[in-house]
Amino acid sequence: MKEQLKLHLDSFQDKLWEISDYLYHHPELGDQEFQSMQKLVDFLEEHQFTVETGIVERPTAFKAVFDSKKAGPTIAYLSEYDALPEVGHGCGHNLIGTMSAGAGVLLSKVVNEIGGRVVVLGTPAEETNGAKVPMAEQGIFDDIDAAMILHPADESYESGESLAMDAIQFEFRGLTSHAAASPEKGINALDAVIQLFNGINALRQHVTSDVRIHGIIKEGGVAANIVPDKAVAQFYVRAKDRSYLNEVVEKVKNIAHGAALMTGAELHISNYELSYDDMVTNKTLSDLFTKNLLSTGVREVKKAKDSYGSIDMGNVSHVVPAIHPYIGLDSPGLIAHTREFADTTITENSHKILSKGTLAMALTGYDLITNKEVFEKMNSEFRQTVK
Ligand SMILES: [Zn+2]
Ligand SMILES: [Zn+2]
Repeated sequence: MKEQLKLHLDSFQDKLWEISDYLYHHPELGDQEFQSMQKLVDFLEEHQFTVETGIVERPTAFKAVFDSKKAGPTIAYLSEYDALPEVGHGCGHNLIGTMSAGAGVLLSKVVNEIGGRVVVLGTPAEETNGAKVPMAEQGIFDDIDAAMILHPADESYESGESLAMDAIQFEFRGLTSHAAASPEKGINALDAVIQLFNGINALRQHVTSDVRIHGIIKEGGVAANIVPDKAVAQFYVRAKDRSYLNEVVEKVKNIAHGAALMTGAELHISNYELSYDDMVTNKTLSDLFTKNLLSTGVREVKKAKDSYGSIDMGNVSHVVPAIHPYIGLDSPGLIAHTREFADTTITENSHKILSKGTLAMALTGYDLITNKEVFEKMNSEFRQTVK
């Protein structure tokens, strides 16, 4: 049966290469990926998927389903297709989007025999305001048993961890006054922001080493002779897991309240972007995927890198067994978010890698549907590591 999957892939892999190249030539920013979404949706509909677009109130999100109507697990492949300003597909989401749609179609060719359901989810705006967050919140994964996404990189790496992250804005309001003639009448909102930075810098000594706190001053006054009545700071606060992050965020907020008290300014705290949870890799699913990736001819899959970034797949990994591994573009040292990375995604070699990634994901779905033992193991690991 696995051999059959390979033969099915041979019959439409040219189409996958064409889609990925099309996405590369038509890069679209997050939540504006209309052409890219359409290209993928057309492909899925050609292969008898039932598609709903605009889910979770995101116009460029979609859910595509192929249901064998026979008992069995539901396997989801997550498709990203947002690009970056200036560098286009410098993160290679043209490959991600195509590999996931391709894996879904490929697995759909055998589910009428083996049972189960295949879902391809179009998940916009990974680089900015990841749609996987509202998807995880609004129950999109409730009827899904496993979720996979495969990201290109310089070399292949196992699925690893990522940091939980909150994006917090502190807005202080004070009172203007002549900064030299009547400073005693003013309330200095910029001073509150400066005290906030100082307090956070003191906090750094007393948090674990995985914590990252980094911020900017968005607004800090308009003229040196006017006491600033408005100052705004934006921070990202990150930590290894959600519960510790919540503790750290509480401390950071207390510092902000202290800064408001010290200066007499009023404080308004808000989240300026969606919060990401830490990525919990399901080891059972990850090992299964790695084995399948090696079986496609990828020579080496390295251990996961230490990662201090944050991904919206983290939120997914808290509601369903999930992996976010990397497939190598045979370019050690190639750096993401560059034009060079984007250009590497459309080479002949990268087309072959696209096919391998597609096949490895489909094979993993096949194993989950047909191998009860590994499916149960994945689920019991999930119950132990999450919730
Ligand atoms: Zn990126
Ligand atoms: Zn990316």
